[in-house]
Amino acid sequence: MAEKLSAEEKLARVRHSMAHVMAEAVLEMFPTAQIAIGPSIENGFYYDFELPRQLLNEDLEEITEKMKEIINSDKEFIRSEVTREEAREKFKDQKYKLELLDAIDEKEVVSLYNQGNFTDLCRGPHVNSTKELKSDSFKLMSIAGAYWRGKESNPMLTRIYGTAWTNKKDLRLYLEKLEEIEKRDHRRLGKELDLFSIHEEAGPGLVYWHPKGARIRLAIEAFWRDEHYSNGYEMVYTPHVGKSWLWETSGHLDFYKESMYPEMVMDKANYYAKPMNCPFHIMIYNNKKHSYRELPCRWAELGTVYRYEKAGALHGLLRVRGFTQDDAHLIVTPEQMDSEIETVLKFSLHMLHSFGFEDIKAYLSTKPEKSVGEVERWDAATLALKKAIEKEGLEYEVDEGGGAFYGPKIDLKIKDAVGRQWQLSTVQFDFNLPDRFDMTFVDKDGVEKRPYMIHRALLGSIERFFGVLVEHYAGAFPPWLSPEQVRVIPINDSCFEYCKELEMKLRKEKFRVSVDLSSNHFKAKIKEAQQEKIPYMIVVGNREVESKEMSVRLRTGKQENWGDYATFVSKLHNIIDTKQIEL
Ligand SMILES: [Zn+2]
Ligand SMILES: [Zn+2]
Repeated sequence: MAEKLSAEEKLARVRHSMAHVMAEAVLEMFPTAQIAIGPSIENGFYYDFELPRQLLNEDLEEITEKMKEIINSDKEFIRSEVTREEAREKFKDQKYKLELLDAIDEKEVVSLYNQGNFTDLCRGPHVNSTKELKSDSFKLMSIAGAYWRGKESNPMLTRIYGTAWTNKKDLRLYLEKLEEIEKRDHRRLGKELDLFSIHEEAGPGLVYWHPKGARIRLAIEAFWRDEHYSNGYEMVYTPHVGKSWLWETSGHLDFYKESMYPEMVMDKANYYAKPMNCPFHIMIYNNKKHSYRELPCRWAELGTVYRYEKAGALHGLLRVRGFTQDDAHLIVTPEQMDSEIETVLKFSLHMLHSFGFEDIKAYLSTKPEKSVGEVERWDAATLALKKAIEKEGLEYEVDEGGGAFYGPKIDLKIKDAVGRQWQLSTVQFDFNLPDRFDMTFVDKDGVEKRPYMIHRALLGSIERFFGVLVEHYAGAFPPWLSPEQVRVIPINDSCFEYCKELEMKLRKEKFRVSVDLSSNHFKAKIKEAQQEKIPYMIVVGNREVESKEMSVRLRTGKQENWGDYATFVSKLHNIIDTKQIEL
């Protein structure tokens, strides 16, 4: 009887079955190969092998051809249940399968799946026959090294990744999406647009911001500071290093040391680069006694922190070892908690919208089994978070028990232009640090009480956020973020003087502008400005010098007449001030 399968389950079966077919093809090519594991994964499948020689990209073609033959020969997937002894005999030459067999729970049945000349130790399920797989709907993607069972002390195996779909069209759409993602890769665009660099020899995971990247960062940070000021925050600045006392008190040296940069010794004391800003903000708070009248404290800092990430985990701007958090701490009385959470969530959404992110989803993480802090506080804080999300009408998911040991939190994830999700904002309660640092305030009744402390970052970190922005816009930033907003392009030398005057006038208006005085043909100048993704070009020929008309060319290639200079200036100010996303 035909089972009713969800599309997801069907794809998983297709992909896992593809892995078996690939293993059969590889064993045909290398009869002495040792086979390890071959699961279905997101978008596809892989299989790990120990091969008699290094696998080359050309080999993938041969394997692909063999797979197509197997698929087209319509072989049934046959399940059988066997005893451990039978399985041991079957896989006597396959050491990894024997190891997997040993790991199967005594109570569990041992099942095999066979198709054609290939049998695998496998729980299944699979498709019924290879004819349900489509020989035109899969592609072998890449070869990678992978340790057996992910352990570095184990042998390194050869992993072949493939993608598989139920039809040709889905495969094509997926490959197109990959191509689009590749084109948007912030590491590639960062180089092409001269935005930033990272230098292995000077320190992996540490970012160098070039002038154009710095212009964008300055625009982000200026906006960030203004918005914080008008939302009732104060700015603080704190040191980049602190003595071990600070990190012992905060607990970082007990629980977080392996993620910190190693100590520096000075005057017989150990100093550590900060992995977080929180203890520093608490030092400012604890510098004096606070009355309930002074709360809430909302203290923000673009605080640069350093964390030890494994070299293999580093990835462009998305995973680095030094980054600037758009950090703030809210220190509030229990009565203020609800409204503060509501406000901070609204603020967060406003920031994300300003950068053009509209598709936002919330994730609420609640109390895990092991936690610190009173249950009543957990309940009140979790309820405040939940109420705020619901008030904003945000779509959300609850991760029951998924919170940190020290408090519940909300994460906000945005969807980018190609549909990928990125976590940006976090609003996180902390019941741990206020205790460890003995933070108090004097309440209305004259009694010293513990305030609530909330960590929050709206963009996450400037580096990672910038990487996401680059990929979201494919480097074509909205005008308010563009490192160069206007390029003046003279058609001939006789227009140079007029163009230089125009540049100076636009600079005084605080637009980011330059003039191309090179000897290139004006069409080449336009092409270059377009490659640099400059939103507006003003093309100036004798006619424009004469008429003073502003002939504007958009980076999209569209030609527009923006009237006279004054009209141009007011129109551009409006686009930039309102943070218009489209040109
Ligand atoms: Zn299997
Ligand atoms: Zn913090």
